[in-house]
Amino acid sequence: MTFVVQFIDSGREPTVAPNPAYPNGMDVDLRPEDKRTVLHAKCCYGVPYPAPRCGAYVVTCESCGLRVALTVAGRPDDPRTVTLPCKGN
Ligand SMILES: [Zn+2]
Repeated sequence: MTFVVQFIDSGREPTVAPNPAYPNGMDVDLRPEDKRTVLHAKCCYGVPYPAPRCGAYVVTCESCGLRVALTVAGRPDDPRTVTLPCKGN
């Protein structure tokens, strides 16, 4: 199981204060809500945290080809992990 994270740099520094609810990063789950009860560890990936600055991570699962984009801001409330709705599930 491999995946690739690509950072799309917007060139901007964060201008808005981070969300204090997520001082240690967010676990982003992109699966439909009714599929979140079981944690499929194979589709949960760590992403570089915190992000360098404002931009986006493009996460590609090389097993099923799924590609998603996550907005990041170079702040403490950036995504730390992402769980993909992989087609194998
Ligand atoms: Zn996949």
